[in-house]
Amino acid sequence: MCAAIAAVSWRRRAQNWALAASLTFVMVGGCWWSIALAVVVGSTNETIKAIATLLTFPGPSILTPAFMCLGLSFARPQWVPRRWLRIAVLVEPVLITMAGVTNPWHLLVYRGVGAAHLTGSAGWTYGPVFWLDSGYGYVMVLIGISLIAWSWWKAPPAFRGQRLAVLVGALVPFALNIVFLAGKLGDRADPTPLGFAVTGTVMWYAIFRQDLFAFSPVARALIVDQIGDAVVVVSPGGRVLDLNFAASELLRSMNPWAPARPIGAAARELFDKMIASNDSRQSEFVVEFPGGRTEYEVRSSSLVDRHRRALGEVYVARDVTEANALARRLAAAHTQLVRQVETIDLLRANVVEQASRDTLTGLHNRRHLLEHFAAMLAAAEAAGGTLAVALFDIDNFKSFNDDYGHLAGDAVLVAIAHRIQQRAPAAALVARWGGEEFFVALPGADATTGLIIADDLRLRCAQDTIDFESWTFSCTLSGGVAAYPKSGTTMDELFHAADVAMYQAKNAGRNIVRQALDEAPSTQVHRALGRAASPRPELVL
Ligand code: GH3
Ligand code: MG
Ligand code: MG
Repeated sequence: MCAAIAAVSWRRRAQNWALAASLTFVMVGGCWWSIALAVVVGSTNETIKAIATLLTFPGPSILTPAFMCLGLSFARPQWVPRRWLRIAVLVEPVLITMAGVTNPWHLLVYRGVGAAHLTGSAGWTYGPVFWLDSGYGYVMVLIGISLIAWSWWKAPPAFRGQRLAVLVGALVPFALNIVFLAGKLGDRADPTPLGFAVTGTVMWYAIFRQDLFAFSPVARALIVDQIGDAVVVVSPGGRVLDLNFAASELLRSMNPWAPARPIGAAARELFDKMIASNDSRQSEFVVEFPGGRTEYEVRSSSLVDRHRRALGEVYVARDVTEANALARRLAAAHTQLVRQVETIDLLRANVVEQASRDTLTGLHNRRHLLEHFAAMLAAAEAAGGTLAVALFDIDNFKSFNDDYGHLAGDAVLVAIAHRIQQRAPAAALVARWGGEEFFVALPGADATTGLIIADDLRLRCAQDTIDFESWTFSCTLSGGVAAYPKSGTTMDELFHAADVAMYQAKNAGRNIVRQALDEAPSTQVHRALGRAASPRPELVL
């Protein structure tokens, strides 16, 4: 068993060299010792028994310093035996082996019947060198056990069971040896190597079931101590169980008077900001110090053992100062970008809007009308509804211009446009068709409704006066109304029908609105120019 554990440990030395090598040598020593004692017990030849007794020495004398190293590698993370120590631990095995081999001449190790001539070992008593060697071994084993006990005592809860098992396992051969040396076993052979079989079994369990090497203090140190995040383990009772290097640094920056070894101290007193800010499970806290500030993001998770018993809480605080600054800069840049995009959208919409407007009156222009009227017509067609169009032309505008000037004419155009736009229904599309002609599309209106609305617009324009400089003008409109689908089904047909109706109104004396014929015109009707005699307003239905 000792040989098997030695082989397993040695093969895993890459994970934790000091621990693996120490365990290997403990097991090699135990193996040698067992074999030598087995020869002593099993052989019938007294000379062989005597020689085998003397040859047991390399076993315990390799085992005991290796055991001390095992304790050291348990207790001190990342410990690696120095060169001088490796040489020093070999001195004693060499010396005691030489002393054992030369014992028949000096009898300093064993004395008694047959010791000088190697005729049996049953009646041997221990000489001073034996006790010296035993003392040395005991000191080594005691140091080793103390170190393992200490590492068990100081271990974070997650490792405690494992350390305790190793400690108890290590005590078994020690106890057996004390019983043997005290003479309680009579003539029976030394059972100490059998105790190492127990130690070996425990180690085997620790290696395979609890992954001793992977979870050894060295691995913990390598991982937890090396990471930049501050890691603090707090017991269920609120005491600091463990903390890594970064956490010690953080503690010092938060609280310069904090104890140098905070293990066992009340965690809430030392890491108040970290724990308090974490009560919301994932949040941030700030540490201010002369000349700066550091922002930390803290997360925690609960530690439980295999039986789901609470072992404590792990807090991990990460310095997010730079990340936050970057995030803030990004957010500011993003906001600026969004604003710029909004401005561009606004400008573009403005440009589009401007391009669709008539510069003098502010009404939609002919291009906009043509674009949108097509959609209105399609909607009316799809819904099986109606769509009326009204075309207005200011009466005798040419002579008005001649009499009062172009600027007065412009003012009249603006005023009329404004009135039509204001008084047309909300859904109506009003546009300047060109010159002093205006177009009103009335979705949902049939010919009759269109005529009523158009005549209302005409009447209101005729009633209102227009002030320009020192003059007050009144002006009239003539209008033509056509409706989808009765007067036409295409844009051209409807516009043409309205145009014809408008010129009928002109011919009928102006200041009236005429409705187009129900049937779409089959022949092109030319505009009839000239003025009618009667200026009397009249609504023709
Ligand atoms: P009718 O009653 O038959 O419509 O007579 P009219 O004089 O209004 O005849 P017509 O419609 O042909 O006259 C159009 C006039 O409108 C010609 C032009 O001087 C004037 N006009 C066209 N655009 C503008 C403009 O932007 N500003 C001004 N001040 N006058 C314009
Ligand atoms: Mg005209
Ligand atoms: Mg006109």
